[in-house]
Amino acid sequence: MRISPHQIPHEGREVDLSMEEKWAREGVAAGVGGKTLALDGQLFLRAYEAQIRVTGTVDTLVERVCDRCANDLRWTQENELDLSYLPIGSRDDGSRALASDELDIGFYPAEGLDLGRVLQEFFALEVPGRLTCDAPSAVPVNGEPCSPLGTVAEPPKRVDARFAALAGLKLSDEG
Ligand SMILES: [Zn+2]
Repeated sequence: MRISPHQIPHEGREVDLSMEEKWAREGVAAGVGGKTLALDGQLFLRAYEAQIRVTGTVDTLVERVCDRCANDLRWTQENELDLSYLPIGSRDDGSRALASDELDIGFYPAEGLDLGRVLQEFFALEVPGRLTCDAPSAVPVNGEPCSPLGTVAEPPKRVDARFAALAGLKLSDEG
């Protein structure tokens, strides 16, 4: 689902998130690297000239494999988003709409902001670098959670958040 600033009325625009919305379901699944089992929430879009701000809530239940034992686990998350996007090629020039240092700024291509991509990038950053059965809000699908005892410790595969954002940008260009 692509949105351009001119498609967002002055009072803002609401976008419901549910399992019925394929783009949302697939965006979450791609971000977590698994399968979306449940999805509920709402995005609220505001446009400030070319800048698009996305706030809202996303509650998800996702199934994917454990990074330690490779068995399936289910991971639940209740998230609040607050993300801002500028057109690719524009500069963060410190204009009034960018008052808060805490805003996450991303970029969107000329054809508009892909909300599925927004969810994908958000969840790619939310999911732990190493998601295991015994993680908070993770539950193994079958049997007991695996144990870190007796396993060979591997360095966790952490993706630098800045690189993850760049990877998302490249994908956006292709889409
Ligand atoms: Zn495990």
